[in-house]
Amino acid sequence: MQGGNPGKNAPSAGVAGLEQHILDLLEEAGHRLTGPRVQLAKAVSAMAHRPFSGEDLYEDLRRRGVGRATVFRTLKLLQDLGVLSRLHMEDGCQRYIVAPPGGPADADHRDRLICRRCGRVAYLDQCPMEESMARVAEQLGYHIESHHLDIVGLCADCHGAETAGAG
Ligand SMILES: [Zn+2]
Ligand SMILES: [Zn+2]
Repeated sequence: MQGGNPGKNAPSAGVAGLEQHILDLLEEAGHRLTGPRVQLAKAVSAMAHRPFSGEDLYEDLRRRGVGRATVFRTLKLLQDLGVLSRLHMEDGCQRYIVAPPGGPADADHRDRLICRRCGRVAYLDQCPMEESMARVAEQLGYHIESHHLDIVGLCADCHGAETAGAG
């Protein structure tokens, strides 16, 4: 049973809120909420605060009987829906991070700061590239439809931790 959850757009980014957000997006996009998809939404929500790899997720889900192909197919789906972004890490591995709900309303414009250590995401409130994009696009006669900018670095906490660790 679902239980009452009228606050669909509540700002809460808790694990349960995020899980529901993912399920809502899947449903709105016309995907059935199969058992494996619900399990995956749960697992992704639980990993929302650090970058994770597809293998990490599969390790977690295989114990619950979710197949590898389903995991990777659904990861791709969640990327298309804007829930997950791929992050290229310094170790050369690809990880995923969860874009928390409550970002800018405009899905075509999500410029973000991403912490490569803990996966924390902060949205920019202004586009730093607007002028330069418009200028170059005009010069080239290019029509821009969308863009997003991921600025990868360390959040204050992680930067503090790395600096302290370097001691
Ligand atoms: Zn961090
Ligand atoms: Zn922008």
